[in-house]
Amino acid sequence: MPKTYDVLVIGGGATGGGTALDLALRGLRVALVERADLTDGTSGRYHGLLHSGGRYAVRDPESARECIEENRLLRKIVPHGIEDTSGLFIQTPDDDPAYAEKWVVACRECGIETEEISPAQALKQEPVLNPKLLRAFRVPDAACDSFDILTALGAAIQQHGGTVHTYHEVVGLGLAGGKVTGATLRNRRTGEEQFVGATLVVNAAGAWAGQIAALAGCQLTVRPSKGTMVAMAYRFVNTIINRLHKPGDGDILVPVGTVAVIGTTSVNVADPNDTSVQPWEVQLMLDEGEKMVPGFSQVRALRAWAGVRPLYEEGAGTEGREAKRTFAVLDHAARDGVGGLVTVVGGKFTTYRLMAERAADAVCAQFGVTVPCVTKSFVLPDVRIPLNPPKPHRLGHRLEDLEEGRAKDQLICECEIVTRKELEEAVAAHADVAAPWILDDLRRDLRLGMGPCQGGFCGVRAAAILHESAGLDAAQATAALADFAQRRWKGQRPLLWGQGLRQALLDEQIYRGILGLDRLLLAE
Ligand SMILES: Cc1cc2nc3c(=O)[nH]c(=O)nc-3n(C[C@H](O)[C@H](O)[C@H](O)COP(=O)(O)OP(=O)(O)OC[C@H]3O[C@@H](n4cnc5c(N)ncnc54)[C@H](O)[C@@H]3O)c2cc1C
Repeated sequence: MPKTYDVLVIGGGATGGGTALDLALRGLRVALVERADLTDGTSGRYHGLLHSGGRYAVRDPESARECIEENRLLRKIVPHGIEDTSGLFIQTPDDDPAYAEKWVVACRECGIETEEISPAQALKQEPVLNPKLLRAFRVPDAACDSFDILTALGAAIQQHGGTVHTYHEVVGLGLAGGKVTGATLRNRRTGEEQFVGATLVVNAAGAWAGQIAALAGCQLTVRPSKGTMVAMAYRFVNTIINRLHKPGDGDILVPVGTVAVIGTTSVNVADPNDTSVQPWEVQLMLDEGEKMVPGFSQVRALRAWAGVRPLYEEGAGTEGREAKRTFAVLDHAARDGVGGLVTVVGGKFTTYRLMAERAADAVCAQFGVTVPCVTKSFVLPDVRIPLNPPKPHRLGHRLEDLEEGRAKDQLICECEIVTRKELEEAVAAHADVAAPWILDDLRRDLRLGMGPCQGGFCGVRAAAILHESAGLDAAQATAALADFAQRRWKGQRPLLWGQGLRQALLDEQIYRGILGLDRLLLAE
């Protein structure tokens, strides 16, 4: 790793990835550092909704305007990461009927197009919806794949002269003469520490931004708000469904790939690493799901997980759902008397590009760089299935490629349609194949193991390929398989009943009964 950069960006989520790219495109020498894989933070543990802004129009119009503007832009610059599902806001008998009129007016004022359709039309479009629904409005929501978008950002950063260092944790900031001079990075695999100099450091560590600021002696109160989501083993709807009421828990259903994700809760937590899922949260998601789709809770729940919102309002004490979803760019020289450090925090995944633009503007001003931002029109590369011209993601692409003979290959993951060639290419592109978490990284690259079997069938095949084609010895491949099984198990554990329990027992039988995975690990 080189020893100095113009800018070191901390945090491999959407905000950090977007900021590093923006700066690289303006000609600065940039490094992005992330303590785990890209999207390991909130950007990979979110709900997957490209907001139209409708959710925020009444209470937080500034965020709503940011969302709709960025929604329109992201569809153009990263179409392969977005499925144009559109969205519906539905008023059920449980929702306050007075809210609808306020909401329509607020959406109009924020520039969000809404179209009222009759309950019959809504039910024709989505037949599983609550037949008692009273009103329905179309909005330009979409489903958004953060793994694909961060992969694209990472590739673009490197194509434009920047570097990306995953699995490097910032454990200290260098300070000299009242100015940040770089960061000490700890390699998560080897434990080695190295100081990397930078003229300026950008803190884009999301819910952890307060911890990074503290390393420079700055006080920054980020309020971590945990949200739990549950993926159901069935897509239910092809449109994003929002309840037409004041934002609350479990009131959005997002079709993501072959599944549907209901979310979320909103729980203030002391530690941003707290992504524990509580039984009451799962039950609440299932109960609220019933209000949108009767029979919802009878379908198999596949996986539960949580992410932590990086809520920030300078000087305000608001928390949870009351806190605004806008963002802040803070120059710590002006704010705290500490030079060489800029923090960008808050916002939404949907608004990452705008946050990055504002942060990069602040950085460029300090360098005297006058190159304008180009990310409004810079199309991000699709490293997986490049299409010319780029097209929006469509469910069915992968199956069509397979059935129509364009992807003649062995299937490694049947649920998510991952072929052997794709897996081998992703392995070849990986910087550290022998890392024990390699299969989880490949999951983010390819969606390996994210479908109904939760890695039960594909995990062992992928581990065998690591051994056969990537040179991992038996002990390394076994360790990778055990790590993957453990991580997949974590999300299934809160949901063990009915069909989910049957699948978990089958997976356990494959790994412990047939393959003797725990005995193999003990033998090493
Ligand atoms: C439950 C939930 C649902 C959501 N749903 C949506 C949605 O549907 N649509 C939407 O637009 N937004 C949604 N959001 C909001 C959105 O996900 C976040 O605002 C956004 O992803 C934050 O991105 P970020 O890059 O700022 O932070 P992160 O993605 O968290 O990135 C920060 C990174 O910093 C890294 N880091 C921390 N400490 C260090 C260190 N010491 N050294 C190196 N790296 C470090 C972390 O590992 C992390 O990867 C949701 C949020 C939650 C919690």
